[in-house]
Amino acid sequence: MGRRKEVTPPDWDNKQEDAICPLCHRPMPEGSWNEHHLVPATFGGREKITLHLVCHDTLHRTFNEREMKRYYNTIGRMMEHDSIQAFVTWIKKKPNDYYSKTKETKDRKRNRR
Ligand SMILES: [Zn+2]
Ligand SMILES: [Zn+2]
Repeated sequence: MGRRKEVTPPDWDNKQEDAICPLCHRPMPEGSWNEHHLVPATFGGREKITLHLVCHDTLHRTFNEREMKRYYNTIGRMMEHDSIQAFVTWIKKKPNDYYSKTKETKDRKRNRR
């Protein structure tokens, strides 16, 4: 019985519990999230948060990089925005891994030789 119990690192590989999205407060199943720079990397921002792909997309649709640099660089401030509030209300009714995948546009190579 010399078997040592393996220590599981506190990692998200452990699928027992998903991390919580700071924007919409829903769990983030594997593959449904990525990282966002609070201050855009273009402006030297380092601080990153992880959030749903769909939430991330929404941030970038709502704010441009200058706005993010100037003001919308905390979740609290982003939540002040009407569109974000509306989005969060809406996304809460969706599955945790909801993402409106842009379906790969059907091959338009027809006029190719
Ligand atoms: Zn989210
Ligand atoms: Zn981002």
